[in-house]
Amino acid sequence: MKVICPHTALHPVTKGVLDSYNLGVRYVQLDAEYAYGNLLRELWAERETVVIIEHDIVPNHGCVEELFGCSAIWCAFSYQWRNEFGEVGVGLSHQLGCTKISAHLMNALPDLWNEPCHWSLCDQRLFFAAREIGREPHLHRPAVIHLKGIAV
Ligand SMILES: [Zn+2]
Repeated sequence: MKVICPHTALHPVTKGVLDSYNLGVRYVQLDAEYAYGNLLRELWAERETVVIIEHDIVPNHGCVEELFGCSAIWCAFSYQWRNEFGEVGVGLSHQLGCTKISAHLMNALPDLWNEPCHWSLCDQRLFFAAREIGREPHLHRPAVIHLKGIAV
C-alpha cells in the first residue's frame, strides 16, 4: 500500500496515529508553494494507486485499508470543514485530505499536473477535471477527524 502524507507543519497527532498503524507512510515535506502540485505530478508519473492523508487528518483505524479495498477509482473520506482557527464550518469536505487516487483515474487524466499548481488549488484542479470526464469521488464515512487550527 502506497500511503503519502504531504505536509508543511505535520500535526503530531496525525503523525502519532499514522505511525501506530504501521502503514509505511511516506511523509513528504512541502517546502514551496508549488511543491504539492509537483508531488502530485510525480505520483501521476508513477501510475500507482495511492492514498493521501494530509498533515492534519486523523483517519480511524482501518480507513486506509478500506480505501485500498474499495473498487471505486477515486475515493474520499468525509471530514469536517474548519478554518485556520479550528472553527467548524457548515458541511463536510471531500477534498484531498483523506483520499484514494487510483492508477485508473491517473490514466484518465494523464496531463493534469503538467502545468505548475499552487498548493491551494490542487483540490479544485483535480475535482474540476474529473467532473469534466464524469467522475466524482466515492464517499466514505463516518468522517475522519480534521485537526486544522487545533493545537496539541
Ligand atoms: Zn470508495
